[in-house]
Amino acid sequence: MDDPLTTTSQGSKSPTFRLMDVSSLRALDQFTEPFDVVIVGGGPSGSACAYWLAQAGWRVCVVEKKTFPRVKTCGDGLTPRSVHQLRAMGLEEAVAAVGHRYEGLRAHGFGASLEMSWPEHPVFPHYGYTITRFDLDGLVATHAEAHGATVLTGVEAIEPLDLVEGGAGRLGSASGVLVQDKEGVRAEIRGRYLVVADGQNSRIGRALGTSRVKEWPMGLALRGYYRSDRHDEPWIDSHLDIRDPDGRVVPGYGWIFPLGDGRVNVGVGLLSTAGAWKGVNTTKLQEYFVAQVGADWGLSEDTSEGPATGGRLPMGLAVGPRVGERTLCVGDAAGSVNPFNGEGIAYGYETGRLAAGVLGEALSFEEPGRLSLYEERLDEAYGDYYRVARAFVRLISEPKILQVCVASGLRVKPVMTELLAVMSNLMSNSERGPAEWGFRAAASLSRVLPERAWNAVFKTSDISPTNVG
Ligand SMILES: Cc1cc2nc3c(=O)[nH]c(=O)nc-3n(C[C@H](O)[C@H](O)[C@H](O)COP(=O)(O)OP(=O)(O)OC[C@H]3O[C@@H](n4cnc5c(N)ncnc54)[C@H](O)[C@@H]3O)c2cc1C
Repeated sequence: MDDPLTTTSQGSKSPTFRLMDVSSLRALDQFTEPFDVVIVGGGPSGSACAYWLAQAGWRVCVVEKKTFPRVKTCGDGLTPRSVHQLRAMGLEEAVAAVGHRYEGLRAHGFGASLEMSWPEHPVFPHYGYTITRFDLDGLVATHAEAHGATVLTGVEAIEPLDLVEGGAGRLGSASGVLVQDKEGVRAEIRGRYLVVADGQNSRIGRALGTSRVKEWPMGLALRGYYRSDRHDEPWIDSHLDIRDPDGRVVPGYGWIFPLGDGRVNVGVGLLSTAGAWKGVNTTKLQEYFVAQVGADWGLSEDTSEGPATGGRLPMGLAVGPRVGERTLCVGDAAGSVNPFNGEGIAYGYETGRLAAGVLGEALSFEEPGRLSLYEERLDEAYGDYYRVARAFVRLISEPKILQVCVASGLRVKPVMTELLAVMSNLMSNSERGPAEWGFRAAASLSRVLPERAWNAVFKTSDISPTNVG
């Protein structure tokens, strides 16, 4: 099937989207038969799930409340893990035509700086891209449609249909969703299975019974765009210490991601455990950060493209239950962001693909019970890694510990390069270095220690970001 992705000929790199924008659900008469799978949300996780199901021949419908292209608050950074998934979907060329390729990470902290290329890896590429979500998300959704998925945009899922509560540890089940278009017209879209891919707020997931483990870390981040002469640098920048006007280190980290289109994406992030949000002022944190790096990057009110916007990052598979009799949660709706680095796009693509795999099995064998394989595959893919990550971020959320680690680590390039591989989940099985061994040792420990004991080993005082601003 032809891919309808095109780029405009006037020199603009932005792709053109031709998704079905259902301005009136009266046009939905054609969808009276249940779909094999209905997916709520057309972000990375929902569109990837739709692509893999559709290219396997299943009848799939994505319901997306926004119309592409749409702005989405994000750092706009794709690591090699994301690039790998986009390549697997046949989209790397389209992303390269619009995005900016970069080679690695430049880390700064406590007076030291270090440039680290992405590691060579047998599976993942040794480069990443930056690309705005305005450009990226529509590409993937359109690609899914080109492979046979029905993608309805401008249509919001209001509530699950025929909701049956899931009971202990089980997601509720439903036979589809009630949807509403922009004119307020409502319709029922039915499917044999329902995938929840509606992001961190997850209205439909919560209706089916999901909640977040409050004791586990959660991210809060804010970003804004600035015009900058340094927009096409080959490194993404990460600052591990942010300072207030008096030079005191405040909890949080900052990033500058060059977009290659005259702009840079500048943002700040905070990690927290339960209750630590109270009094956090991320807007102030962003102001401090822009003041700290502004002269180097030409950031000012004059070069700002508008006020910063923020969002939450549910991490480490902290959201569940994720499997019901005929339902699955993917991406942020399952809390799949990597706690080590706040990366969520790759994990959206991956969990969407894992879900598509088990749905394909359940549909082929007509055995809904096969959905339980999804939880097993998530555990296989991320269980140990996320257990270590959750403990690790508790540790480095403590500024004093972070300072010691960063101040000494940034001066030892091999250690930091290994750490980059661990934190970006780019370890290779065949070429194990000290970081892999360290990670594996910690992973073994996490397997023998119950969660409570593991937390106690790493227990540090909760961060108190109330002093920010
Ligand atoms: C400030 C910030 C910076 C970040 N930076 C990065 C980064 O640089 N790299 C990275 O990898 N990750 C980053 N992340 C994380 C990343 O944005 C998410 O993990 C990722 O978007 C998750 O994809 P998703 O498909 O699960 O959810 P989303 O991307 O949130 O997609 C959900 C979709 O569902 C739609 N939807 C929601 N409710 C409904 C409904 N009721 N009916 C129909 N449609 C609905 C939404 O419109 C949306 O399109 C960042 C997050 C934040 C907040």
